[in-house]
Amino acid sequence: MLKGIAASSGVAIAKVYKLEQPTVEIVKKDADPAAEVAKFNEALEKTKNDIERIKEIASKRLSEEELAVFDAHLMMASDPDLSAQIISMIENDKVNADYATETVANQMIMIFESMDNDYMRERAADIKDVTFRLKCNLLGLMIPDLSLINEDSVVVAYDLTPSDTAQLNTYAKGFATAIGGRTSHSAIMARSLEIPAVVGCSGIMEEAKHGDVIVMDALEGEVLLNPDEATIQKYEAKAKAYAEEKEALKVLKTAKSVSTDGHQVELAGNIGGAKDVEGVLNNGGEGVGLFRTEFLYMNSDHFPTEDEQFEAYKEVLTGMGGRKVVVRTLDIGGDKKLSYFEFPEEMNPFLGYRAIRLCLDRTDIFRTQLRALIRASVYGKLCIMFPMIATVKEFRDAKAIFNEEKAKLISEGVKVADNIEVGMMVEIPAAAVNADNFAKEADFFSIGTNDLIQYTMAADRMSEHVSYLYQPYNPSILRLVKATIDGAHKEGKWAGMCGEMAGEPYAVPLLLGLGLDEFSMSATSILKARKMVTSLSKAECEKLAAEAIQLSTAEEVLDLVKSKVD
Ligand code: PEP
Ligand code: MG
Repeated sequence: MLKGIAASSGVAIAKVYKLEQPTVEIVKKDADPAAEVAKFNEALEKTKNDIERIKEIASKRLSEEELAVFDAHLMMASDPDLSAQIISMIENDKVNADYATETVANQMIMIFESMDNDYMRERAADIKDVTFRLKCNLLGLMIPDLSLINEDSVVVAYDLTPSDTAQLNTYAKGFATAIGGRTSHSAIMARSLEIPAVVGCSGIMEEAKHGDVIVMDALEGEVLLNPDEATIQKYEAKAKAYAEEKEALKVLKTAKSVSTDGHQVELAGNIGGAKDVEGVLNNGGEGVGLFRTEFLYMNSDHFPTEDEQFEAYKEVLTGMGGRKVVVRTLDIGGDKKLSYFEFPEEMNPFLGYRAIRLCLDRTDIFRTQLRALIRASVYGKLCIMFPMIATVKEFRDAKAIFNEEKAKLISEGVKVADNIEVGMMVEIPAAAVNADNFAKEADFFSIGTNDLIQYTMAADRMSEHVSYLYQPYNPSILRLVKATIDGAHKEGKWAGMCGEMAGEPYAVPLLLGLGLDEFSMSATSILKARKMVTSLSKAECEKLAAEAIQLSTAEEVLDLVKSKVD
């Protein structure tokens, strides 16, 4: 059994699909030319078929332009000159097909790479790609491709990027990764896809083999490989019980989020794009408390244009049917990179050039996003917030740019809503302790505990080695949350939370007691949170929270909460 961090609940029992590039080792051998030529022709046919198949599956989600790369690869694989050169080397030198393929490919790559022409240099990459596939086919090695999964599988990988997760189809019953923590982005994606995931599972890449039977208990963060029949049955029963519990919560879908003594809060969902709106509504979400717009940028091969963004924001606002939608402006940097933008080399990217810092520097990128948002504002109830605000000046500068773009659009005759709220994330301790001053200028706060905990405890959220410091129940964190909520309320503003803490069942009583107005979480956590809220008294929770922040450790706080609500 391997231990990891339960990142998205559920239980999955399936086969391992290992996402790992094969290592190709080629040695020159004397060989029978006729047999090698036959082997080569067969591998070449398979290579063409593989590319066709990948193209066909990709055509369901990619544009014509993006599909062009597959045509280039097919052309390369069908190039008579390439196969003629390889076959002639096999015949003349009497060597193995994989060796001939590698030698010819390397020569061609060198020629193309040295050409004084961008188009030709790009062809070198195509040759590399196609001949890599060809060599793997000759050696009987599998190149993993998530979109090709066609039986129930648990994907095992070192880490999954957003574009990897975007390729997962319905056969992917969950995933287990070697690195990451509860708030790493692969974990967040798993929750929005509603599939179980265990992250930070060190040893998984060494232990799991492609095709192994895997039982993943993402309630406990445990992974078992090739267990016996009795163990499988035990986990099948657990999976069934979990599904039944999930089903039973559905009665709360249309219930109000009101405590037993009549205090109402808002339970909202976190989304990464328009396709997640349905999940929020299906799980009884009363709004969107965080739209992570960086996924629009990360799933693209260029900075999304104003019109592309406008369409995405319009779709979300319309989909939410007038319910509040909090859109966060671009939060890129840290672990979130773009293929088409070069970030400066930094020792500590999480403390570096990212989010609002980047946007205030590259105002061209920022203005495009704000214009798209302001134009979309007429389609629903829009709130905009800025990520990673550390100083009041940053908030003022960002807000001034928003005001300028809004005024420009109005003067251009564009219709805009007059009730757009402009707030900020509180995810840097400096903002939390100075919340009362920020509240004089911001319309609302949304507490980003994933980063607030990372920065308060000085513990990288991506590192499984220090994941024990992710302590939402630590009194230091509770005190910062309290300062933020009190600061907002002093100025008559509302305070929400969109970090993962908002959806932790034992955090709900504390947050309710501290006066949090809006709780935004992964869609799958909403109904559980509603069950909590509707069974609690706000007055009792206030007493609980007051007692909790006087305690010394996270364990003491958690024990106290459990003693009251369990
Ligand atoms: C947070 O930091 O809590 C947050 C919600 O933002 P992200 O997880 O996207 O950094
Ligand atoms: Mg954050």
